[in-house]
This record gives sequence, C-alpha cells and structure tokens, in this order.
Amino acid sequence: RIRVHGLEKSFGDHKVLRGIDFESRRGTSTVLLGPSGSGKTTVLRSLNVLDTPERGVIAIDDVEVDFSRVPAGKAGRRETGRLRAQSGMVFQAHNLFPHRTVLENLIEGPVIAQQRPREEAVAEARALLDQVGLGDRADSYPFQLSGGQQQRVGIARALALKPRVVLFDEPTSSLDPELVGEVLAVIKDLAAEGWTTVIVTHEIRFAEQVADQVLFLDGGVIVEKGPSAQVIGDPREERTRRFLKRVL
Ligand code: ATP
Repeated sequence: RIRVHGLEKSFGDHKVLRGIDFESRRGTSTVLLGPSGSGKTTVLRSLNVLDTPERGVIAIDDVEVDFSRVPAGKAGRRETGRLRAQSGMVFQAHNLFPHRTVLENLIEGPVIAQQRPREEAVAEARALLDQVGLGDRADSYPFQLSGGQQQRVGIARALALKPRVVLFDEPTSSLDPELVGEVLAVIKDLAAEGWTTVIVTHEIRFAEQVADQVLFLDGGVIVEKGPSAQVIGDPREERTRRFLKRVL
C-alpha cells in the first residue's frame, strides 16, 4: 500500500509538485498521465527517493517518511534509504551493466546489496527471466538483445530485489514501435499477478487496460483521479478532456 500526502518539490524557483495526495491499495496499478513537465516523473522519483521532496509524507507499507522532518546526515539517509528499498524503478532506458551477462545483471543487487546467498539469487533470477520470456537468454550480453528484450531484463532486475512496489518511468518511450507491445504485455502480466505498480506512460490505451487508478497531473497538482473508465473514459475536468483529445 502506498500513501502520499502533501508532497511538494521545487527545483530552484520552479515549484514542480504543489501538494500531491493519493493512495494506492496493495496489488493495484496506478497510472500517472499528464502533459510534459506536469511532474509525473518527479512523483515517481520521489517515491524512490531519487528526488527529495521538501514537504509531504510518503508511506509504502510500514515505512513512512515525513520529508519536512527528515534529520540531517546519517540518520536521515538511513530513514530515506529504508523507504527507497521498498520500491524498484524501471527506467526509460534499461541501463544494464554492458559487460555483464543477463544473469549477472539480475543477481548483482540481491547478492551485493542484499547479501543473499548466490545460489538462491541465481534460481530466482532464472525464474524471473522465464517470467519475462527470456529464460533462454541468461548468458547473453545486453548488446546481443533487442531494445524490448533489454527492457524486459530491466524489469526482471527491478523485481529481483523483491520490492513492495514497482515503479515504471515511461518504460516504452525509448523503444521502436514494434517492440512496445512485448514490454507492455510483461507489465500487464505483473499487474495481473498482484504486484503493486505505479506507471508513468504516454500510452493511453495501455493505461486504460492496466490501471486500477489513473491520476491526471497538470502543473504539479492532481487535477483528477479515479478509475480509468472515469478519468479516461468520461473525464470530469476540462483540462483532462483537452489533454486526452490531443493525445488520443
Ligand atoms: P515528461 O512527460 O516530459 O517526462 P513529466 O510530467 O514527467 O514530463 P517531470 O520530469 O516531473 O515532468 O518534470 C517537471 C518539471 O520539473 C519540468 O519543468 C522539468 O524541467 C523540471 N525538472 C525535473 N527535474 C529537474 C531537475 N533535476 N532540475 C531542474 N528542473 C527539473
């Protein structure tokens, strides 16, 4: 379960998030939609504490951080580190280690960062590769794979850390159009399997299919939120309608 309350974030004078509130139930998919620059990626990066909000509360399951009260120094880093460990991020471009095999890419986090036994990590990594349809590519290097396959390895790598929540930042935007479908299909399977996901995407039709909840952002606020059938199918707000008309 995710709970976000009163999130505010500025870059210099530019206030990018102006009080973001939402909740996601466990096992659901939340999709963030909105025009370029509306703050979608910043919300996602805040959940993973890649960006540090000035104000607001983020809670993922039993780990809660009030960003207006994070202590300075080591204690603060420990607190935000606990929150970061609750989520796994899948970036636009997969950023795999180029000189390591697919399997080595997957076990790096569990073995080095989480200090889990190597055999256990290998067995889990192989199962995850099967799940994303790449069971036969464990010994390949990233450059030997298509962009879509690399992105599926990126997803498996995020799952290997067993996060409570998986965050997707425009996971198909760097792909050739013919490779988009295979990546979206993997994300849809994860959502159906009960992973809790938060997804930033420009693929409205995909959002409609996968989302339990859609948040429409504009200018650093959530203008409208609700089930996809409402926000995408029958939006209440003029700003949402205008955006959807442009992109559909
Ligand atoms: P897009 O769909 O184009 O990715 P977005 O809705 O994800 O847009 P964000 O990436 O969250 O938007 O950015 C919101 C605003 O914050 C933008 O105006 C962006 O230029 C600004 N911004 C984001 N990151 C930084 C940063 N590190 N330094 C300065 N400004 C930033």
